[in-house]
Amino acid sequence: MSEKIDIAAIFGEDVFNDTVMQQRLPKKAYKELRRTIDEGKELNGDLADIVAEAMKEWAIERGATHYTHWFQPLTGITAEKHDAFISPARKDGSVLIEFSGKELVRSEPDASSFPSGGIRSTFEARGYTAWDCTSPAFVRHDAAGGILCIPTAFCSYTGESLDMKTPLLRSIEALNTEALRLIRLFGNTTSKRVTPSVGAEQEYFLVDRDRFLKRKDLIYTGHSLFGAMPPKGQELDDQYFGTIRERVASFMKALNEELWKLGITAKTQHNEVAPGQHELAPIYTDCNVAVDQNQLTMEVMKKVAERQGMMCLLHEKPFAGVNGSGKHNNWSIVTDDGINLLEPGATPHENIQFLLVLTCLLKAVDEHADLLRESASGVGNDYRLGANEAPPAIVSVFLGEQLEDVLSQLISTGMATSSKQGETLSTGVATLPDFMKDATDRNRTSPFAFTGNKFEFRMVGSSASIAGPNIVLNTIAAEAFADACDILEKAEDFDMAVHDLIKEYATAHQRIVFNGNGYSEGWVKEAERRGLPNLVSTVDAVGCLTTDKAIKLFDRFSIFTEQELVSRQEIKYEFYAKEVNIEARTMIDMASKSLIPSCLKYSKTLADTVKSLSDVGADDSAAREILYEVSDLTVKAKAALQKLIDDDNAALNIEDCRERAEFCYNVIKADMLALRKPIDRLEMIVDKDYWPMPSYGDLLFEV
Ligand code: ADP
Ligand code: MG
Repeated sequence: MSEKIDIAAIFGEDVFNDTVMQQRLPKKAYKELRRTIDEGKELNGDLADIVAEAMKEWAIERGATHYTHWFQPLTGITAEKHDAFISPARKDGSVLIEFSGKELVRSEPDASSFPSGGIRSTFEARGYTAWDCTSPAFVRHDAAGGILCIPTAFCSYTGESLDMKTPLLRSIEALNTEALRLIRLFGNTTSKRVTPSVGAEQEYFLVDRDRFLKRKDLIYTGHSLFGAMPPKGQELDDQYFGTIRERVASFMKALNEELWKLGITAKTQHNEVAPGQHELAPIYTDCNVAVDQNQLTMEVMKKVAERQGMMCLLHEKPFAGVNGSGKHNNWSIVTDDGINLLEPGATPHENIQFLLVLTCLLKAVDEHADLLRESASGVGNDYRLGANEAPPAIVSVFLGEQLEDVLSQLISTGMATSSKQGETLSTGVATLPDFMKDATDRNRTSPFAFTGNKFEFRMVGSSASIAGPNIVLNTIAAEAFADACDILEKAEDFDMAVHDLIKEYATAHQRIVFNGNGYSEGWVKEAERRGLPNLVSTVDAVGCLTTDKAIKLFDRFSIFTEQELVSRQEIKYEFYAKEVNIEARTMIDMASKSLIPSCLKYSKTLADTVKSLSDVGADDSAAREILYEVSDLTVKAKAALQKLIDDDNAALNIEDCRERAEFCYNVIKADMLALRKPIDRLEMIVDKDYWPMPSYGDLLFEV
């Protein structure tokens, strides 16, 4: 029998959550803190001291020796610096165990080593982290012991945001304000807050740690840069939802337990399409917490895997030739009293508020398709978007049969009078129940799909923070709601005005709706005809951050200033070039020091064999043919290597970061492919004993 795990008992045991606050804080302090959190008020100094004391006591009981302000700088990963809970020694040589309100609320890490895109010069390197009390603190346990992690926002001395959380919180606030305006128009006087809800499905690969360590590409870049396809890939579809292997199952068990303790509702786990690939989905929660929890989930995944002799690969394309990994960002808009604005109800054609929300979102996505696409960009994701395994780089909206029908009624007659209902699907087996076919079917190829009562943004990369995509989603939704409210609040006849507006938006933004196959060639042409942007690579996408349209949008809701946008754009170009450079240098290292030398050694063996065979008068043609083939490909690899070295050096001399990124995309990426080609061919013919690293087959099938 399995060891018994009491999920309810361990759930959230390492989180300073509402229950703990109620238990540990004086009643008045608890009430005040609750109000601060719920109403987004500022925390006063006395209250901060009380909370800090309670938090410290609790954390120490949970085994914490240190605390850290846990934040997300623009590196894409979380940052932390640990401080022990001790204050200067007393006269008798002992230490005080202390943690003040000031230490809880604010910290001053030296910001000069984090990317800022030129916002700060080193002489004004100060940065601040500030406690975000809307995301609960937690104690994380690892080899470093117990650390109290305090989710924080990170700003510069002059107030510019240097992280992902600050703009995310601003976008959540903007959406709250505008969505409240909208529901008030429909007579809702009771809801106090409107918050985006997010559930992020996380895909990942597991590989054996010892094998991982034999591959410099995995070590330095998180994905493979060489590698011939094994005899078997994913063609038999025998991995998806397949039986989970013992070693992987034990990883999932340990992972779930850790996540539950951290208050993360790990819910669904299964094998994904590619061999070695898996998925984990939590139950959705409010956007800010979901973003933090997804960061934490990724951290915990890596640690748990390592403890079990494996490595968790979160890269978007660990292996060429099989599917890569993404992250579906499920998003809806929910009031504090539980009304989901994306809930169509049984008869959506009668649900005027829903139709307005829906058409506002069509307008939002159509007008800012470029920003949504940009929010999912990155070197890793470039390998998969549009490669027939993930949505294309063209943003479109899938509505499903029912809503598309309602929409076309609206457009053609100005009125929607019916909603297609889901049909019953007979199983034909008396002992099995019949199913109600969902009226909103799935379409896996759509980047932005309506799935019942939420939208699923499916472009996001597996390693990326979901903060970026949610900042864009919240902000563009806020803008569309605000535009609608600006008109409707002034209308004399509300019913008439809302009816006209829904029709107007549906008609004007119909082009963004696409229910067909997003992977097809035809769609690329059709999208072009419709005038939808197709931003193929990160380098193409990043430019949209500083268009007049984007600057106006983000400024209107105080999400980003123009300067912040310019700096974020610069960081993105810089990162792009740096990441490609690291990939290029890793390939250079592997080819020069290991792959080509191995091929030469094998050539020598072959040459010796040819000689020995001909010495005794035996037929040496097989050895000779292989030798010619190996040396021919080695010569090609050597030439490609040289070109990559030269171009990589040239890239480093390009001053302007946008030009450097473009050069990396146009030249270096092509060079990398040119080097990979002969090497992958060589892997297929060189004696396995001579090949210096584990193959795809070794990595994917022997976890
Ligand atoms: P799948 O897309 O794999 O069929 P589900 O649709 O059940 O699975 O859920 C996928 C993710 O979407 C889960 O993380 C789930 O919690 C989340 N989700 C479900 N409903 C909502 C909602 N209303 N808002 C946001 N996320 C949601
Ligand atoms: Mg999904």
